[in-house]
This record gives sequence, C-alpha cells and structure tokens, in this order.
Amino acid sequence: MVLKSVSKDLGGAPLVSEERAVPKATGPFDVVVRIGAAGVCRTDLHLVTGEMEPPLPLVLGHENAGWVHEVGSSVTTVAIGDPVICFPFVSSGLSEQERAGLDTDAPDRATPGISVDGGYAEFMLSNERSMLKVPASADLAQLATLTDAGLAAYRACKKAAALVRPGDDVVVFGVGGLGHIAVQAMVAISSARIVAVDTNPAARALAIECGASEAVAPDELRRALPRGARACLDFVGADSTAALGTGVLAFGGAYFAVGVGGTVSLPLADVVVGERRIEGVYVGTYTELLEVSQLAISGRIAPRVVRYPLSEANTALRDLAHSAFLGRAVLEPDR
Ligand code: ZN
Repeated sequence: MVLKSVSKDLGGAPLVSEERAVPKATGPFDVVVRIGAAGVCRTDLHLVTGEMEPPLPLVLGHENAGWVHEVGSSVTTVAIGDPVICFPFVSSGLSEQERAGLDTDAPDRATPGISVDGGYAEFMLSNERSMLKVPASADLAQLATLTDAGLAAYRACKKAAALVRPGDDVVVFGVGGLGHIAVQAMVAISSARIVAVDTNPAARALAIECGASEAVAPDELRRALPRGARACLDFVGADSTAALGTGVLAFGGAYFAVGVGGTVSLPLADVVVGERRIEGVYVGTYTELLEVSQLAISGRIAPRVVRYPLSEANTALRDLAHSAFLGRAVLEPDR
C-alpha cells in the first residue's frame, strides 16, 4: 500500500495498492523481510496528512515483524526463514553515536516506513544489524508493536524505574498504543504504584486490566496522588498533560515526554525548589528492543492488537484517527 500524495483530512483512501517486484538485498540493505505484521502508528497519520513531509511515493510502516526472505552475501547472523522483528532504524553501526550506544542518534540512519519504503507491503528491505530473531511460536503481530510503540514505552519505563522506590507513584498519561504497554512494562520492571490517566473510560478500564492500581480522568489526578508522583510518563504530549504532569511531581520527580505536540511551561523556581526534571524519550535502542521483546516472549507483557488485513490499511488509519479501538492496530498479509 503506497502513499502517493498527502491529504490534510484523511479523505478518500490515501494509500493505494500497487504491484511491485520483490526487492533485492543490496548494499547497506542486505536483508529482505517477508512481512508478517506491521503496526499502525500515529506518525503514519502525520505522514498521510502532510504534518510530516514524506518522500513520495512512500510505503508506510515503521513497526515491522516477519521472516527473513533473502540475505546479502555477507550476512551471517540470520538465515532465510528466521522469524524476526525489525529494529526501526537501518544504519551501519559505525558512527560514534552508535558506538556510544545511542542508536537513535545515528547520523546515517534510514527509517523504513518514514524515509524509505516500509512494511505496509508483502516484502521490505532492512539490514542484518536491525534483525532481532524471535521464537517461531511468537505472535508476530504482538511483537511488531514492540519495535516502535513498545520500544519507546519501555525506554520511558526504564528511565522511570531507575528513580522509583517501593511505594512511589508513577503516572501514565494516555492508555493508547504506547501507554497500555507502558503500564504492563512498569508493573514488570518496578515496584511503582501506577496511576493511569485517560479521558476515555474504556481506556481506563484497559489500564486496570494491564495492572494499573488506579485509572482516573485528568481532573481526578491530584486527588489520586496525595504525595505527588515520582515520575510521569506522558504519551499524549499536549499542553494540558504537560502542565498536569509537571505539576504533580513529588520532590525530585521526573516528567518524561514521549508524545509530541504540546509545550512545557513552568516556572524555573518550581524546577529548582522541587528539583524537578524534564526529559524526552525518543524511540529506544536495539538492546532495549531485545529487553522488551523478552518481556513479551516470557508472557510478562502482552500488547493488545487489533488485526486488519493489509488491503484494509486505509480503514486501520481512519479507525486510529477516530480512536475507534483500544491497543495497537496491526496489518497482516491478506489471506
Ligand atoms: Zn511510530
């Protein structure tokens, strides 16, 4: 399914079907993946509507899982037929940044689904360095969601978990594709008491299912946090959640921004006197993808997926735009 032109209001069917030859593994793109599942992300909506500027034409899909279909001659760590999930960036690993462990800052990276063709297709080009092998029994749709949504959620949780002491409260804003995984991951890796915040009662119910101790509407949050929060994970990223999230921090607490869209504005006096911290969370590292996939494979977390056939990609995008489902939408090959 190919995006050929942007459309501000998601009108019509922005993605069109197109016959293409199976790509060949060449140069830095030395692995062809046969796609088994591709997650649908709000970033895709931003690309479709032109809020982000996609190179056109573009096959979307930056959250991918499948099977190795073809490998270049120098590939040694994966073989044809291996089930894999795909780290979302394709890069050499040779940059100073990557050698320092900062995969997301690699200057030479390509991002399938954003800068080059991605996984809303039967086949996709990636590279050996981005392959993460998974058990044959694994649910690829669930694992696909970890390569972007789950990865960023997990990175945020790891940062928060480093601050948490038993009895501390951690707030999760937005129980959507990322937030519902974050609640589960936070339960799995920390002793925090989790308070989820969402305007949608069904999302609040999902948060409780995922292990949150409490799930409240935004105007109920202060009551739910008599001692303030050790950390806030903001998956919404709006002016309102930024204000509320930074406002409820306990002394030394941290506000982690994952969703983008709003502006943080708070008096420096509050930052200083409360020793508050504001930190961004951008995707995650390969190692973190390995860690969060282990949580899923061992059954400690279970992303909730809503499955659509690839040919229904436009429906999935529209449903996401209208918040018509809970969890993460995933495209699977047409049968
Ligand atoms: Zn994304």
